[in-house]
Amino acid sequence: MRKTLVVGNWKMNQSLGDIEAFFTTVKASNFTDEAWIAPQALHLSKLIELAPKNFKTGAQNCSYENSGAFTGEVSPTSLKELGCEFVILGHSERRAIFKETHEELNLKVKKALVNNLKVIFCIGETLEERESGKIEAVLGEQLKKGLQGVSSSDVIVAYEPVWAIGTGVTATPAQAQETHEFVRKFLKEETELNAEETLILYGGSVKPDNAKELFSCADIDGGLVGGASLKAESFMGLYGK
Ligand code: PEP
Repeated sequence: MRKTLVVGNWKMNQSLGDIEAFFTTVKASNFTDEAWIAPQALHLSKLIELAPKNFKTGAQNCSYENSGAFTGEVSPTSLKELGCEFVILGHSERRAIFKETHEELNLKVKKALVNNLKVIFCIGETLEERESGKIEAVLGEQLKKGLQGVSSSDVIVAYEPVWAIGTGVTATPAQAQETHEFVRKFLKEETELNAEETLILYGGSVKPDNAKELFSCADIDGGLVGGASLKAESFMGLYGK
């Protein structure tokens, strides 16, 4: 039985004061649902210190090596040692701005898993790819190459149409469900993951007022949320609280 999961991706946002205010509000609200947050790397310790037990803390990226001469990189071993439980890999901003390749992401996924970090593996098509009928080819390539040789139950897939991230434009529940159904079928037929057990999250302008409808679709197991996860009231609103 798959659970519903909400993961906040704080990107390069939030000051230390914002984080303190977030958890002050959460703690005053008796919020006990399981919640995952990925702050910027510098704030991981702060979250681990402040977050109540129902929160898991994770990173937005990690290296494909554990240690060595990789100036500026974040070691998956150090993330685990610090108390992180998961890492987001392959976010469209990492793919587009930092030019991360399928091959590099595959190495990162494997190294994170070896370090006992859960992996949220992001995939998604651009508007141009959608409009030219390439959704299945694009998502299929991202899944096939990025998850090659990966069979772990610690992998979560996040489908995030690039045109819906941070734009205020959300895929309709029907559009999202149709793509999630394709992703689950692809996982079953073309990868080593257990497709029925793998959580597939939707990401792209999820807000408290559209979360319930999206998350109630058969193949949508929750959300990866940017903007609406920054304020505690809005984050808890994603759970209908
Ligand atoms: C994201 O950062 O992964 C995301 C989906 O952002 P937003 O919710 O702001 O669209």
